[in-house]
Amino acid sequence: MFTMQLSSLLSRFAEPETLKMAKLGRELRAKGVDVIDLSLGEPDFDTPEHIKEAAKKAIDDNWSHYTPVAGYADLREAVCVKFKRDNNLEYKPENIVVSTGAKQSLANVILALVDEGDEVIIPTPYWVTYSELVKIARGKVVEVHTTTEAGFKLTPAQLEKAITPKTKAFLFSSPCNPSGAVYTKAELEALAVVFRKHPGIVILSDEIYEYINFTGKHESIAQFSDLKDRVVIINGLSKGFAMTGWRLGYIAANPEIAKACEKLQGQFTSGTNSIAQKSAVVALTADLTPSFDMVKEFTARRERTLQLVKAIPGLKCFEPQGAFYIFPDVSYYYGKSDGTTKITNSADFSMYLLNTAHVSSVMGDAFGEPACVRFSFANSMGNIEKAWARIKDALARLK
Ligand code: PMP
Repeated sequence: MFTMQLSSLLSRFAEPETLKMAKLGRELRAKGVDVIDLSLGEPDFDTPEHIKEAAKKAIDDNWSHYTPVAGYADLREAVCVKFKRDNNLEYKPENIVVSTGAKQSLANVILALVDEGDEVIIPTPYWVTYSELVKIARGKVVEVHTTTEAGFKLTPAQLEKAITPKTKAFLFSSPCNPSGAVYTKAELEALAVVFRKHPGIVILSDEIYEYINFTGKHESIAQFSDLKDRVVIINGLSKGFAMTGWRLGYIAANPEIAKACEKLQGQFTSGTNSIAQKSAVVALTADLTPSFDMVKEFTARRERTLQLVKAIPGLKCFEPQGAFYIFPDVSYYYGKSDGTTKITNSADFSMYLLNTAHVSSVMGDAFGEPACVRFSFANSMGNIEKAWARIKDALARLK
C-alpha cells in the first residue's frame, strides 16, 4: 500500500474557522435546511457598475498577459493617489506591492520578516489568519488580551509589557475584525510612544475595513512620520468595494520590505490577475459614492442588529465602531443545556446555533477570545431579523 507522510508544515497551523463554518452551513443547506449565514466576512453587495465596466474593457483591450510581479505601474500609482487622498500619506510606487488579496499581502509580509522563534505581538481578538501565518513562518504568537471594558483596544502599558528582545513585529487591524474596535488618533499616538522606545519592531497595520467606519475618521498609525518607515499598511479592495472574489490586496512599506515581498510573490503566484488590476485602478481613483452607499446600509443594519442583540438576555455586547461584525460575550450560556446539548465553550455555542436555529456564526476561540462569538451583519435586513429571532428562541431553551 502507498504510504505517505505530509509535511510537518501542515500540522503547524489550522484551517480558517470562518471558512469551515461557511462550509458546514453550505452542507446543511444542501440537505434542504434554510440556513442563514452570519459567518462570512464579505459584503453581500454586487461590485459597483463602473468597476465591472472597467473589467469588461480590460478584457476587450487584451490585458491578458502575465503582469509585473508587484503590480502594473498604473495601479501602483493609483494606490499612491489613494493614500494621499484618503490618508494624507506620501508613498511612491516602489513602496507598493499588489497581491492576490490582502491575505497574500499579509502572508508575504510575515514570511518576509519572521524567522524561527521571532515573536509577533497580536492583540486579541484578532483575525483568524494572523496567528496561523506566524506559525507557518515558525514565529511565536504573543497574544495580548484586550477586554470588552477597554473597548477591545490594547493599552500602551499592555504593549510595553509584551515586548521582549525577540519581538519582531506587532500586528493589528483597525477597524478590527472581529470586534469592530476602531483606534482613535490619540490611542495610536499613545502606542506610538511605546514603539519609539523599541526601534526594531515592525508595525503591521491591517486597514482593510478603512471605509467601514461608523463613528469617525479612519486613522492610520503610519501618520506619525518618525514611525512611517517601519509601518506596513495592508489594505485591499475586498471589503470597501465589494470585490472579495476579485482577489486584490496591496501593501505600502519601506522599499526593503516591499522588495522582499515582491521576491516571495515572484515564486508563489507572480503578479495578480490582470483584469482585477485594471479594474482596481478605476476603483481606487474614481468617486467613492458607491462604497459610502454600502456603508450607509451597513450603518442601518448595525443599528438594528444592536437592538436585536441587546434584547437577548445574557449577551454582553460591545458596540462595533467599524467593520461589519458584532462580537458579543456569550459566556453567560456556558454550562447551560437545552436538555440534549450542553454548551461548554464558544465552539459548542456556535454549533448549537447552527444545528437548532440554523444560523451560522464563528466561535470566538478562532479569534483568540473564548468568551465571544462573531456574527456578521453583512446580510440583508430581512435575514438579520429572521436570524436574530431564531437565535433568541434557541437561547431561551438553554437552562
Ligand atoms: N484582513 C482582515 C482583517 C480581513 O477580515 C480579511 C478578509 N476576511 C482580510 C485581511 C483578507 O482580505 P482579502 O484577502 O479578501 O483581500
